[in-house]
Amino acid sequence: MFVDKAAITVIAGKGGNGAVSFHREKYISAGGPNGGDGGKGGDVILVADDNMSTLMDFRYKRKYVAQNGADGTGRNCTGRDGENLYLKVPRGTLVLDKETGAVIKDMSEEDSFVIARGGRGGWGNSRFATPTRQAPRFAKPGLPGQHREIVLELKLLADVGLVGFPNVGKSTLLSVVSKAHPKIANYHFTTLYPNLGVVYAGEGLSFVMADIPGIIEGASEGAGLGHDFLRHIERCRLIVHIVDVSGSEGRDPVADFEAINAELKNYSPELAARPQIVAANKLDIVQDPALPQKLKDYVQALGYRYFEISAAAHKGTRELVMAIAEELSHLPPVHVFAPEYVEPEIVPETVEDLEITVSGDVYSIEGAWIERLMNSVNFSDHESRMYFDRMLRGSGLFERLEEMGIDEGDTVSIYGLEFEYRK
Ligand code: GDP
Ligand code: MG
Repeated sequence: MFVDKAAITVIAGKGGNGAVSFHREKYISAGGPNGGDGGKGGDVILVADDNMSTLMDFRYKRKYVAQNGADGTGRNCTGRDGENLYLKVPRGTLVLDKETGAVIKDMSEEDSFVIARGGRGGWGNSRFATPTRQAPRFAKPGLPGQHREIVLELKLLADVGLVGFPNVGKSTLLSVVSKAHPKIANYHFTTLYPNLGVVYAGEGLSFVMADIPGIIEGASEGAGLGHDFLRHIERCRLIVHIVDVSGSEGRDPVADFEAINAELKNYSPELAARPQIVAANKLDIVQDPALPQKLKDYVQALGYRYFEISAAAHKGTRELVMAIAEELSHLPPVHVFAPEYVEPEIVPETVEDLEITVSGDVYSIEGAWIERLMNSVNFSDHESRMYFDRMLRGSGLFERLEEMGIDEGDTVSIYGLEFEYRK
């Protein structure tokens, strides 16, 4: 079965722990601290792939975990960073937040996107040495990597979508006008994968065409496979509607044309209103010329452009391609979905949730929300640091430290970050 939607879990690597270690050498009694920092955890990174057209790979594996950072070691050795995990997805995949359904990212334009950030490594004890604390016997644990529940939804990026009943010659046309090699079958079972092909219409003029299988009657109500596929043409700028006018299967081309359009409209009126070109196919085996004529009169009266082709015999396909290119030249570009997802604010729970331990003049603070906060702040960025400062002040942390008797110049230590206390 074709898979165009997948719910997965992505977990970035945890940061490695900082090391507690002291310089040791013969005849040197009190060596300084030399515990190295932990490495950063690996990120989970989505990569847009132009050659994929299904999310099939995500069907059986649901959980993707990047490597943890290695722990720091003695002699000031920093632990190795965890390796990033790269997940290939078809270009055009929408990444949604599972809980809210909000769009996190549309993998249409950029080539890669970090979906889960690795945790920072913890500092080794060498970082905590101060003039008054020459032998710190503690280091900090690495922070956890981001953990996200996401939904991948495939909405192919094609300029042109081919629609029509099964067996009318959609796959044949795509294979003839592009370099794609879709499966071609002479039976009423639809191709299982949407196929994409790049069509070269001339010097520097090309477009992407998608063969959308399975739009059959009832598809918009969920019958058959059609429904799954309809979402792929949501982005198309132009629809090319293929109708078999050969009469070889006893079909009425006008009734077929109307049935497919009703299907589109039922699924999405907006989609049905997209510009459409009609291509009558299988002209090479037409027995009764009244059939193509009937379709031609009907659609032209409705204002559609009408072409007669034989996809199998490569007749009329060039003219159709040129007409498509011309039509596309004055249509708006493919729709890209804007991100809607906003990172949830880290709400300080209460200061009581924080664990504060005092050792000499060092106040160490730990707790779930502050750990999350540390993980989200980029300390090399001023804005980010200001945000961090505001969050700390807003939480009432400093009042609590005052109550505990902190003095000006004492050290506040939060997950590897240390600063002197100032009122
Ligand atoms: P799809 O289901 O719409 O993708 O249809 P296919 O492209 O798989 O074609 C169905 C059958 O119709 C195949 O056996 C094709 O060889 C045949 N076919 C497609 N185009 C033509 C045509 O122009 N003339 C004739 N005689 N047969 C065609
Ligand atoms: Mg097909």
